[in-house]
Amino acid sequence: RSMDNALPSSPTTRRVMLITGGSRGIGAATAVLAAKAGYAVAINYRDNAQAAAETANAVEAAGGEAWCVQADVANESDIMAMFAALDARFGRLDVLVNNAGVVDKKARVQDMTAERLTRMFTVNTISTFLCCREAVKRMSTELGKNGGSIINVSSAAARLGSANQYVDYAASKGAMDVLTIGLAQEVAGAGIRVNAVRPGLIDTEIHASGGLPNRVNDLAATVPMGRGGSATEVAEVILWLASDQASYTTMSFIDVSGGR
Ligand code: NAP
Repeated sequence: RSMDNALPSSPTTRRVMLITGGSRGIGAATAVLAAKAGYAVAINYRDNAQAAAETANAVEAAGGEAWCVQADVANESDIMAMFAALDARFGRLDVLVNNAGVVDKKARVQDMTAERLTRMFTVNTISTFLCCREAVKRMSTELGKNGGSIINVSSAAARLGSANQYVDYAASKGAMDVLTIGLAQEVAGAGIRVNAVRPGLIDTEIHASGGLPNRVNDLAATVPMGRGGSATEVAEVILWLASDQASYTTMSFIDVSGGR
């Protein structure tokens, strides 16, 4: 393994899973479970190379093959470079997990700037469209590929709306849900399944990045199950959706939210 995006080719017989934002949180937990399931795991990250390296170590400790790829998914040229590097490294793509995502500081719609909205939809939604586009080209049986599976990491916010907190984030995830519905139908005949998970309150660092480090504990009592969830509890569902056990499941949404 190397942190270098421009590695020489190393074809693998393992199934390959690309996880955007695979270095921390839900993405990192998914990487480790994917390793246990026998995948070669491409771990995308934006800034934190050390976290990506730690996750790669955890993947290898679990018996998997790890490869880290830096790319800001808000940037189309970064996405193109990431997929080109993936082609060179593995020569195949079986599963794409669109997991990279951000929140913003608490704000009401009446106070949201165009800059804030542009960042939110670029990082969470347009990135997902572009990564789906590149994945479909590499999976479609209509193009001579082997089929595959795409899992979008949406949010319970897409159902709840996140009033007085971040309606922009909720809407960016709502758009991911509609992409899931439409794309699933477009590519069902091409051997590609497209599904989404909608996590609820999950214990990761994303809440601190939005200025609310105690958000999970503060809201735990509002969850019918009375607690936040773990990244691994979300990852288990992602791995199931990716697997052959889910072979007749497409255009589906699984809420992983403790009843919230
Ligand atoms: P997290 O702990 O903050 O981790 C975010 C990951 O995404 C990191 O690996 C980060 O890489 C990467 N990332 C962020 N922006 C990126 C970009 N522009 N390009 C490439 N990578 C980028 O987040 P999380 O809580 O695991 O959330 C993962 C997904 O689950 C997100 O889509 C989030 O909206 C969704 N979700 C989370 C919760 C929750 O309660 N935690 C609930 C519902 C949905 P760097 O470290 O390099 O920045």
